[in-house]
Amino acid sequence: MKRIYVREEYCLGCRLCEINCMVRRSRSKKIIKAFTRERDTLQASLRVENTGPLSFAVQCRHCTDAPCIAACITGAMRRDPQTGAVVCDETRCAGCWSCIMVCPAGAVQRGREHKVVSKCDLCMSENTPVCVVNCPNEALVYEER
Ligand code: SF4
Ligand code: SF4
Repeated sequence: MKRIYVREEYCLGCRLCEINCMVRRSRSKKIIKAFTRERDTLQASLRVENTGPLSFAVQCRHCTDAPCIAACITGAMRRDPQTGAVVCDETRCAGCWSCIMVCPAGAVQRGREHKVVSKCDLCMSENTPVCVVNCPNEALVYEER
């Protein structure tokens, strides 16, 4: 399956991936409206880590043998049969945070609006995830390896 891979040597630490992810996940999908009217609920599904001069984006690895799926007590965390992405069905999520505790990448977060988890879904409705499309330095690639 296609996954997002990081080329940390090209990452500028500009956080445009985080911003574009927040906008895509906002209600308005418009950057100005999102950052003025929805500021309290904006949430990105990835985070940029900085260590000295090195920076890189961290997001779900869509693990082949995903610990979060095994740990989920309701079956909310599942693999999408079409894309292979690990996704969370928010209507089934009980907010027990088991997936957060077992994820080795720290890629699952508590949702800011409801007591359900929030995670990367590889931008299921898009051809290419918006973080990859909007990275100005091609530090993120979406490919099969
Ligand atoms: S959320 Fe964590 S454990 Fe689950 S597939 Fe993604 S990286 Fe793997
Ligand atoms: S793939 Fe989409 S949802 Fe996932 S981090 Fe990138 S922009 Fe956000």
